[in-house]
Amino acid sequence: MLRGSPERELAASWEADAAAAAAAKSQAAEAEEQLGVDAGAAGEPERPAREEQPKAAGPAPVPARPRAAEEGDARPARRPPPAPPLIPPRPARTLCHLVKARSRGRGYRRGSGSLRPVTVDSSKARTSLDALKISLRQLRWKEFPFGRRLPCDIYWHGVSFHDNDILSGQVNKFPGMTEMVRKITLSRALRIMQNLFPEEYNFYPRSWILPDEFQLFVAQVRMVKDGDRSWKPTFIVKPDGGCQGDGIYLIKDPSDVRLTGTLQSRPAVVQEYICKPLLIDKLKFDIRLYVLLKSLDPLEIYIAKDGLSRFCTEPYQEPNSQNLHHVFMHLTNYSLNIHSGKFIHSDSASTGSKRTFSSILCKLSSKGVDIKKVWSDIISLVIKTVIALTPELKVFYQSDIPTGRPGPTCFQILGFDILLMKNLKPMLLEVNANPSMRIEHEYELSPGVFENIPSLVDEEVKVAVIRDTLRLMDPLKKKKEKHFPDICMDRKHRVPPVSDRMSSSKLKGSSLSVARSQHPENPFPGKEDPGCELTGDPDSNPEAHLPSICLKQVFPKYAKQFNYLRLVDRMANLFIRFLGIKGTMKLGPTGFRTFIRNCKLSSSSLSMAAVDILYIDITRRWNSVTLDQRDSGMCLQAFVEAFFFLAQRKFKMLPLHEQVASLIDLCEYHLSLLDEKRLVCGRSRRPQSSPPQEVNPTTQPAAGSPAPRMIGANKLSHSRHALS
Ligand code: ADP
Repeated sequence: MLRGSPERELAASWEADAAAAAAAKSQAAEAEEQLGVDAGAAGEPERPAREEQPKAAGPAPVPARPRAAEEGDARPARRPPPAPPLIPPRPARTLCHLVKARSRGRGYRRGSGSLRPVTVDSSKARTSLDALKISLRQLRWKEFPFGRRLPCDIYWHGVSFHDNDILSGQVNKFPGMTEMVRKITLSRALRIMQNLFPEEYNFYPRSWILPDEFQLFVAQVRMVKDGDRSWKPTFIVKPDGGCQGDGIYLIKDPSDVRLTGTLQSRPAVVQEYICKPLLIDKLKFDIRLYVLLKSLDPLEIYIAKDGLSRFCTEPYQEPNSQNLHHVFMHLTNYSLNIHSGKFIHSDSASTGSKRTFSSILCKLSSKGVDIKKVWSDIISLVIKTVIALTPELKVFYQSDIPTGRPGPTCFQILGFDILLMKNLKPMLLEVNANPSMRIEHEYELSPGVFENIPSLVDEEVKVAVIRDTLRLMDPLKKKKEKHFPDICMDRKHRVPPVSDRMSSSKLKGSSLSVARSQHPENPFPGKEDPGCELTGDPDSNPEAHLPSICLKQVFPKYAKQFNYLRLVDRMANLFIRFLGIKGTMKLGPTGFRTFIRNCKLSSSSLSMAAVDILYIDITRRWNSVTLDQRDSGMCLQAFVEAFFFLAQRKFKMLPLHEQVASLIDLCEYHLSLLDEKRLVCGRSRRPQSSPPQEVNPTTQPAAGSPAPRMIGANKLSHSRHALS
């Protein structure tokens, strides 16, 4: 088993790490080839987009402490002095050069003959503003810090999709994402996948929802204990919607759950506690990985090659009744540990209480750990988790941005919190819809007096994530590629890393500065990447000054390995098809009946009366446990439960996932026949000479009537014509 390295290794120089990094990078690249996996990635502390919740009362709460300034906090943070210019001033150029630059580079685009930069509305960026500004300067895009009357290409929101009425462009949040990653919703979504694919989804600790499943929790724990007397579990109770360790406590027995008071008003998730985490320097740590959900349909996922590791500040011991309340030993939250006297601020990426994930991988690699395997496990955890989240996200999406109505397209950076177990298996702790993009940290000048100072480690990782997300979402990219075919996206490190932009006196002796100057891939302070010189004039390539993109595509790249898991996604497509009214997220009884009829699921053993009873039973139960009481009807999770029930009845003897897959195949088959029938009817009814008609979303035909082909498979599944 791998153990934490001794204390003195904390002070080890970057040179050693850099050497290991090179090895780590090449291994990671190999890993990609092997499983179909890329290297990269790590993470940081949750900055809630949600409001702070009251703490749970009871025996072992996280102690009330002053909080580090976090996302959503109203507390104004003292700003650090403005950062030095990111792009070194260019030498004086001739008029000819300038004209060329205006017309070809510097973020200015051709659009119907005129030139314009990509425009970004940053008025709602909140605490991600500093990192966003740096990114925009690097990209030479145009920022609108107070918004704009005309539409922008991109809207950057600090918190949620619903900050604004946006009718076009792209927004960096998906509707419903905040709801989807709440602890209870995430646990439910993952549980459905665990029921279908227990082996594949064993990266999420067994969880129960309180108070609803308290009796189930008690019964299941008792059952396992009865079967294995040596099992001495620990559980962690986490309030729903909480963040930064808020209200979290550990228990040894179900009877220790605080059932009264807060639990009724604030439900929670109780989860098996991972007792044997991997330790470094005897400390527990977790990983914050940044994941870009670039598109929902088709699914596109990217993972950042680096992230952050957040360390506890008290040496770890397996939980026992004496240490159960030791927050600094068991919880890795930055917002908690920053208040420990043992928190180490460091400008080095490989030391201190917050480090880059790549530095952890280097360390592990130098100890002989197979980091290719670690990476491929992490990538598969991320893809599987996103696969669990997307079905309901699609329901939110069609409700907020119905097909045929004007609206923006969406993308989102997610923060994945992952714990490596002692055996190096990654376990998912949670997903954050609004990972902190702050690039400063609190520094305690004297007891109780804090100042915000720039955090090099945060800036290094987060600016790259935001900048490269923007590059991937560049709305004019296709045009750019047409106009600048000589673009060299994979040039390495053309922007000096943060450390190189700090004054040398400030970084004197810092391991980061040593690291950068000696890093084999760092072209500074040397000459430009010779590959770029092929373009002749750097102005001919608007991204010539940028480093290679730090986000690696993992889906659809590895779709082949994971597509079989997307059963609930296919169920969601059926669900959406029968939803009927635009804007709704719940299926009415008529919609459910139509689903049964159109898919030919009723029979002598399943009458329509039985279908109605099934609908009422399941819907009533789900409506009593879900928080969303906005409209009545059957939510997606209830539909999934009904679907499982129908699949089990129809395809007895098979394992659940095969039963479900068979029923989906059957439904899709009948619906495709129906669609074809409609198409044929439509053709025969249409006068020969008339051209194909585009579907008018407000007058879509009812079920049984033709669905014109040109609306496409995707739109077809979103169309509401199935209701009759
Ligand atoms: P929050 O959103 O409040 O930060 P998390 O789910 O991230 O809640 O949990 C907070 C911290 O508790 C994590 O960073 C991790 O250190 C620890 N933790 C959470 N769940 C587990 C678990 N199942 N096993 C071990 N440690 C856990």
